[in-house]
Amino acid sequence: MNSISIKSFILSIIFVAFLLEGYIFYNFFENSKNTISKLLQTSIQADVLNLKHFMEKNLKQKDINFIASHVDNIIIINPTIEDIHILDNSQNIIYHANIRYEGHNHTSQRCMPISKIINTNIFTQECYSFSIKTFHGLQTKYYYANVYIDKAYTHGLITQQIRKILIAFLVSAFIFILFLWILSKIYLITPLEKLRQYAYYSHNPPKNFFVKEIESIRYSLNMTFKRLQQEQEELYNLSTKDPLSGLYNRLSLIEKINWLIAKSKRDKSEFAIIFLDLDNFKNINDSKGHEFGDKILLHISKVLLKTTRENDIVARLGGDEFVVILPDFTDENTIIEIAQRLKETLATPFEIEDEEYQITASMGIAIYPKDGRDVQTLLKNADIAMYKSKELGKNNFQFFTNAINKAVQEKIAMQQLIKNALQENHFKLYYQPKVDIQTKKIVGCEALIRLIDPVKGVIPPYKFIGIAEENKMIIPLGEWIIQEAVSQIKKWAKTPLKDIKVSINLSAIQFQDPELLQKIQKYTQDIERKKLDIELTESVLIKHFKERLNVIKGIKKLGISLSLDDFGTGYSSLSYLKDIPFDTLKIDKSFIDNIYTKDDLTFINMIVGIADDLHLNVVAEGVETKEQLKLLQEIHCKEYQGYLCSKPVPPKKFEELFSLHCV
Ligand code: C2E
Ligand code: CA
Ligand code: CA
Repeated sequence: MNSISIKSFILSIIFVAFLLEGYIFYNFFENSKNTISKLLQTSIQADVLNLKHFMEKNLKQKDINFIASHVDNIIIINPTIEDIHILDNSQNIIYHANIRYEGHNHTSQRCMPISKIINTNIFTQECYSFSIKTFHGLQTKYYYANVYIDKAYTHGLITQQIRKILIAFLVSAFIFILFLWILSKIYLITPLEKLRQYAYYSHNPPKNFFVKEIESIRYSLNMTFKRLQQEQEELYNLSTKDPLSGLYNRLSLIEKINWLIAKSKRDKSEFAIIFLDLDNFKNINDSKGHEFGDKILLHISKVLLKTTRENDIVARLGGDEFVVILPDFTDENTIIEIAQRLKETLATPFEIEDEEYQITASMGIAIYPKDGRDVQTLLKNADIAMYKSKELGKNNFQFFTNAINKAVQEKIAMQQLIKNALQENHFKLYYQPKVDIQTKKIVGCEALIRLIDPVKGVIPPYKFIGIAEENKMIIPLGEWIIQEAVSQIKKWAKTPLKDIKVSINLSAIQFQDPELLQKIQKYTQDIERKKLDIELTESVLIKHFKERLNVIKGIKKLGISLSLDDFGTGYSSLSYLKDIPFDTLKIDKSFIDNIYTKDDLTFINMIVGIADDLHLNVVAEGVETKEQLKLLQEIHCKEYQGYLCSKPVPPKKFEELFSLHCV
């Protein structure tokens, strides 16, 4: 259906009302015309009857002049009657009054008998007639009279009436329209226009309206806008705030940093970004569950908000990563002060579920524009600095520097390299002979890993083992090493190298794998396990001694032999030798490096003595010179390993070496 405007609607109503009023006024006019007509008719009728009676009574003895004054009188008194003609029997006018319209000629043809006056239209009928019967003795005489209507007068009456009614009609119509218009303007059009504007712009809500329906629309609109605003706020919060902490999320953080960059560019000012990562949060989350972890995160968020200044911006990037932006600071000391305060307040113990906890954070700081001119670089560099502060022992903060950046970049690149190398099989095991000092025969070897990068060539383990340990990649890598060494033992089983004992190194991190023992058992099921030796350093035994001791004993139980690597360095607790069923002691290279005379041998001698007493094999590591070897021989050290015989070499090369006697 086509809609029409409220104005057109009201105009239509006015038009209809106008027609209606017109109709009413027309009827009113007709009625009043009838009434006038009736009045005129009765007055004419009365006058005529009066005249007729007067004439019948007087015409027989009085002459016409006597009658004439009476007739004239009637005409004067009754303005509707213009003229009266008295006619004799032969239709000759014996008298006519016509005082006002002298000389006016009337014809009698159109005269209507006065008895029918009620049925005629007084305003159109020209004249009425009647007869007068007189008795002159026995003789009856007839006279006739024609009464002429004063048309001008009757028309005047009608016109006057029309004018009056028309004026009344127009005035009342005008007042009605005006009134209707004003009312509709005040109570409909203006409120509706206000509502329209409110609906369009949704602000400046109008006050209460008089018309109930419009008021209820206003109320509904108000409610709808309120709900919309709430929903909008909720949506805005959802898109800009982190739902857990209520802090800004990554998206709005980026927005804010971009805004700050633009502002700082204009003002030539600086701002700082503190990247904050909780220390060991993953452990809490894993051991206590996510719900508990969330409580901690909420606590941290509150602490961050409380510790920072009003203008500072606090955001949660996700997980246990937070960012604090310091939009204005006087110098680096301000940043240090705030970072220090953050460090201290975060480390303050707090209670959750009646238990006391303490959590620390590592922070990295990057400053615009010095440490980056865009969001990504700034966040990345603050993250790098944070990474460094973790590396340096956590619970601290670190400013971003180029040196840190370089080191971290190298580390990240190395992590990637290790990942790829594992997938693409770039790792190789090299083997370094262990030589029997008496017979000079190669009796065993140590498997040492190398990363053979297609671009960078051979990468030594010191460059990647630490990193692989840090990100736990050493666990899959270690598994590969075991499998690779086992497969080498299998290959050599059918060759002259069948009795060669292969040692592999096990990292402390590998003991974090709860399935380590089962895996070793599984991987070694196809070989004679006594051909495999596992070298452990004391670092393995520092933490979780009891659990690890069980695993180590389990390995030993499988038939695999155990060597204590780098003996003499680190903690060197002799109690390890008592608790752990080692087969071999490997004297660390640092002791061998310094032996030139027999006196220098004292310490090594002691170790050899202990090993002898405990019935352990002894291997001297890092033997490079014949002199060193000679001295070792003198103190009855059993085996040596070192460049003097060979560097670690690929399996093929090792097979070639085997047939030769080493020095
Ligand atoms: P490590 O277990 O003490 O291995 C002995 C290291 O001394 C080897 O270095 C070897 O090449 C080196 N070496 C032996 N004789 C001499 C010598 O006469 N002179 C000199 N200058 N060095 C000698 P490499 O292969 O670079 O390995 C370094 C360390 O990396 C190893 O120390 C070990 O802790 C670790 N590593 C190497 N391969 C593996 C592995 O497969 N698994 C694990 N977990 N660690 C490994
Ligand atoms: Ca070793
Ligand atoms: Ca060693």
